[in-house]
Amino acid sequence: MKLFDVYPLYDITPVKAVGSRLWDAQGKEYLDLYGGHAVISIGHSHPHYVQRLTEQLNQIGFYSNAVKMPLQEELAYKLGELSGYSDYALFLSNSGAEANENALKMASFHTGRKKVLVLKNSFHGRTSLAVAATDNPKIVAPVNEAEFIHFLPINDEQALSEAMDESVCAVMLEGIQGVGGIHVPSASYLQKVRSLCDQFGSVLILDEVQSGYGRSGYFFAHQHANIKPDIITIAKGMGNGFPVAGTLLSPKFQAKHGMLGTTFGGNYLASAAGLAVLEVIKEENLIQHAAELGSYTMEQLQGISGISEVRGMGLMIGISLPYSSAALRKNLLMEHCIFTGSASDPNTLRLLPALNVSKADIDTFLNALKSELMKGQTS
Ligand code: PLP
Repeated sequence: MKLFDVYPLYDITPVKAVGSRLWDAQGKEYLDLYGGHAVISIGHSHPHYVQRLTEQLNQIGFYSNAVKMPLQEELAYKLGELSGYSDYALFLSNSGAEANENALKMASFHTGRKKVLVLKNSFHGRTSLAVAATDNPKIVAPVNEAEFIHFLPINDEQALSEAMDESVCAVMLEGIQGVGGIHVPSASYLQKVRSLCDQFGSVLILDEVQSGYGRSGYFFAHQHANIKPDIITIAKGMGNGFPVAGTLLSPKFQAKHGMLGTTFGGNYLASAAGLAVLEVIKEENLIQHAAELGSYTMEQLQGISGISEVRGMGLMIGISLPYSSAALRKNLLMEHCIFTGSASDPNTLRLLPALNVSKADIDTFLNALKSELMKGQTS
């Protein structure tokens, strides 16, 4: 059997990784400022993570959600404590799309409504409803089309006010738009969404799958606006590579046996991975580090000529060029051995490093970027 060929691949085969470094089979070293697509939060193979998962695997790796698993409760407790959402409840699943699917389902169970407002340029995943809420017709199959989902421009308070009414089940938006090219919803926009959801009894869902877990310099990116969503979704950095995701529900949602479920979600290994990540984030003060190093990186980038715009918060940064960033990204990888990310906007290059990336690593990138931009537009 061969692989179903859906991914355009770099001709690189990483075989080992530590912190923000990767090595291929020939021993060539790479700097990882992409974090495997915002997944690597505490660095590759962090010793505490390796130890916690190894010890867990030696005890018990899996049993179904039919038995008591205190590790899940410990994860929910520590997540509540570190994120400032101790009064919310956690439903554990396996991927960002699934977390969003469950969020929309809960909003609809709760309101009895169907209409959903999302943003242009959004990405919420590839399962049926999540992909319908994603602004990319190329990945929406006819079976996924949902006429009750409406797309609005980001930060347009008037368009939002005009679209809101008593039929709106939920407004769902990313804490910071990631795949769409790093667009930050303003504090005033988030506050407006919150107040309109309150006015019309609609559910506010913040997709923090990419922007959460300290990446923005806050635990959740929306916390810069001082609002509280009704539902928050998480994945990616939550497990540092182990598939684990969560839907955080405010106390207004009543749980009933059987209303949500999953075979793998929150299993022993997933919970151990989630706990290891939270422990390292707290122990190493990584949220503050992300805020400080993110500000430094953005300041430095703003001083580099040839860049049209720098967007983002913390260590979630978009660098926009006046032309496609594809050749630049390729040169950074092939000539400077630095992984960066792309976006659906071809001119934007994304930085999504581990939260404990060092200033020296950022400086290495900045120097490589300057030297590439000095060469002029690479094609
Ligand atoms: N939501 C956001 C904001 C994302 O960036 C992604 C993935 O890139 C998802 C949801 C989907 O997550 P997953 O690929 O784990 O299903």
